[in-house]
Amino acid sequence: MPSVEIVAVGTELLLGQLVDTNTAFIAGELARAGINVHSTQCVGDNRERIAAAIRTSLSRADGIVMTGGLGPTVDDLTRDAVCAALGVGTELYEPALRAMEAIFAKFGRPMRENNRKQAELPAGSRPLDNPRGTAPGFIAFGSEEQFVACMPGVPREMKPMLVEQVVPFLRDRFAAHETIVTRVIHTIGLGESEIDYRIGDLFRSCENPKIAVLAHEFRADVKIMAKAPDAAQAEAMIAPLQNELVRRLEDGVFGYDADTPASAALALLASQHQRLALAESCTGGRIAAALTSVPGSSKTFVGALVAYDDSVKLSQLHVDPTTLQRDGAVSEEVARQMARGARTHLGAGVALATTGIAGPDGGTPEKPVGLVFFALDDGTQRSRAWTFRFDGDRETIQRRATTTALNLLWRYARGDQEP
Ligand code: ATP
Ligand code: MG
Repeated sequence: MPSVEIVAVGTELLLGQLVDTNTAFIAGELARAGINVHSTQCVGDNRERIAAAIRTSLSRADGIVMTGGLGPTVDDLTRDAVCAALGVGTELYEPALRAMEAIFAKFGRPMRENNRKQAELPAGSRPLDNPRGTAPGFIAFGSEEQFVACMPGVPREMKPMLVEQVVPFLRDRFAAHETIVTRVIHTIGLGESEIDYRIGDLFRSCENPKIAVLAHEFRADVKIMAKAPDAAQAEAMIAPLQNELVRRLEDGVFGYDADTPASAALALLASQHQRLALAESCTGGRIAAALTSVPGSSKTFVGALVAYDDSVKLSQLHVDPTTLQRDGAVSEEVARQMARGARTHLGAGVALATTGIAGPDGGTPEKPVGLVFFALDDGTQRSRAWTFRFDGDRETIQRRATTTALNLLWRYARGDQEP
C-alpha cells in the first residue's frame, strides 16, 4: 500500500506559539482521498534538520506533502532543504517570476532579489500555482519515483493548492480511487465505560466500517469510518451500523456530524415554538455564547442576564431578598427564583439558571468549590432544579457547568421525565 508523510515546517510550531492546523487539514483531505498517512513530522526553520526530516520520511513512504517555509525571508528554507535532500540544483520558473512582477507592479512596490528566489524551484519539479500569494508551490522528484510536494504555510494559500492541485496529483499517482466517509454520532451524559458496555462488541469486531470512540467532558463521539470506491458505497456501508449504534445508545444521542449540544437543544425548542432565556451566575455567559454560536438561534433564544452580583439577582430577576439572605446566592431556591425571574422578565416560555462556586476561593465545608445549582422554569409542573458537584480549576468547573446546562436543556426539550 503506498503512503505519504506530512512534514510541517516552522519554529513557531515547536515553540507552542502556533497550533499546527495545516497538518490536521492535510491529513483530513488525504484520508478523504483514500491516501494512507502513517507518520507526520514537525520541524523548525533549519536547513539541515528540514533536509534530515525529508530523508527520514522518504525512507518510510512514497512521498511527502510539506507546508511552510516557502516565503522570501531568511528563515524560509524549505526549497533549499529539498534541493539538499534530493541532490538537485534550482532552476528559474519563468511564469512564477512574471506573475510576481505583475503583483508587485499592481501594488506599486519594488520587487527585491529575495522575491526572485521564490521563483527558483528545485530542478525538474512541477510548479503549483498560487493565485492567492506570491510563492508558488512545487512538486520535486527524487530517485525511485519519490516526490516532495511543497506548499506555503499560510492556510488560505495552502488549502486551495492542496485540494485543487496536490490531491489530484496524488490520486493519479496512486490510482487511489478509494474514499473514506466518516459519520460522527454525538452522545452526552453516557460515561465511557457505559458506552463500551453497550457497543464494545461492535467496536472490537468491525474492520470496515471501523468504529472509534472519542471522549470529551461528559460527552462522547462515536465515529464510524467506511472506506469504499465512492462516497455512495461508503454511505451504504455506514447506514446499518449507524442504525444499530443509535439503537443501543438512543438515550444519549443528541446529534450527528456538525451538531453540538447547543444546536440540538435549540432545534428541539424551535420545533416546539419555545422561546428560551437564561440567568447565568457562575457560568458568566458561557451558555449564552454556546447558544448564539448556532446560526439561526435568534428564532429561539431571547437573551441572557449575567446576574453575578446579588444586587442584580434582586433588581433584575426579582429574587426574594429573604430567600437570598436565608439560603445564600448559591442555593437551589435562588436558582429556581433566578430561572422564574428570567422567564417572566425576559419574555420567554422557558428559562434556565445557574448559580455556583467556581473557585478557587469562596468554598466552605457546606458549599465547597465546584457546587453548582441549575434550575429550569417553564411555569408548569415540569419546572425543576438540580445540584451538581464538579471537580477541577475555575475554568474547568465553568466549562463543565456549561456542558451540563446544555445537556439538561436538551433533555428537557426532548421531554425526558428525569432530565
Ligand atoms: P510566507 O510566504 O508568508 O512566508 P511561507 O510558506 O514561508 O509563507 P511560513 O513562513 O512557514 O510560510 O508561515 C507563514 C504563516 O502561515 C505563519 O506565520 C502562520 O500564520 C501560518 N502557518 C504556517 N504553518 C502553519 C501550520 N502548520 N499550521 C497553521 N498555520 C501555519
Ligand atoms: Mg515565511
